[in-house]
Amino acid sequence: MTTSRKPAPRRAARVFPDGLKKLFRRWRSRRHPLPDGLWSTVLRTSSYAGALPKPDRARLRELAGRFMETKSFEGARGLTVSETMRARIALHACIPIFNLGLEYYDDWASVVVYPGDFRVHDEYMDELGVVHRETLDLCGLSQTRGPIVLSWEAIRVEDETVTHRNLVIHECAHKLDVLNGNANGFPPLHAGMKPGEWSREFHAAYDRLCSSLRAGVSGRIDAYAGSDPAEFFAVLSETFFTAPRFIAEDFPTVYRQMARFYRQDPFHILPATPA
Ligand SMILES: [Zn+2]
Repeated sequence: MTTSRKPAPRRAARVFPDGLKKLFRRWRSRRHPLPDGLWSTVLRTSSYAGALPKPDRARLRELAGRFMETKSFEGARGLTVSETMRARIALHACIPIFNLGLEYYDDWASVVVYPGDFRVHDEYMDELGVVHRETLDLCGLSQTRGPIVLSWEAIRVEDETVTHRNLVIHECAHKLDVLNGNANGFPPLHAGMKPGEWSREFHAAYDRLCSSLRAGVSGRIDAYAGSDPAEFFAVLSETFFTAPRFIAEDFPTVYRQMARFYRQDPFHILPATPA
């Protein structure tokens, strides 16, 4: 009995397209702004994105790739923004707009990344017309029509499974909030959503959170949410995508409003966030 190394014609015919497919995958991976290895690395930084069904993960990857191609990334204070940093920021930035579209971010063009916290000098006028000047140390900033500004150190050490915070989602939520004017926790709602319902549910939840905080009771939502309605919306947006169970259980009517606005149902994807 003899064996032959020569493949049978039928087998050769099947191997050729497989080889082509492999070549195509390699070529696509090299030209894609989010090649396979980089995508796997950054996907591990989001429980929600990692738990999405495979077709949704592929769509999120495409969206994040387009984000990387269309936004500029600038390192401040001598920081070099690596591909991994860009990819991680892009992934998290695209989670809130996953079912809205990249055009929701058309108003701004760049992401500025500082190595750590950064200092800003703010000036504002109060209701009595008195101008106040203050110096603030921040880890994130969202400028109306300007860039989002981030501390890489804050992102690097962030473990959303522990803190349920996500700086990039927070700043991006502010960007969505100001699409229809001031930052006030009232983003542009979709057709069929009722502005009165949104305001009523959010104000009731905000008042309840503030009352608890005043009574010295800290719940599962980060206390920074009690700063003002804009921060309430931004912090709740972080929690919506990192620990959706907290909002679904503590503020169920707000959860439903957010699910309609973001067109996502993270509690369905991540039901088992630990308490
Ligand atoms: Zn904020």
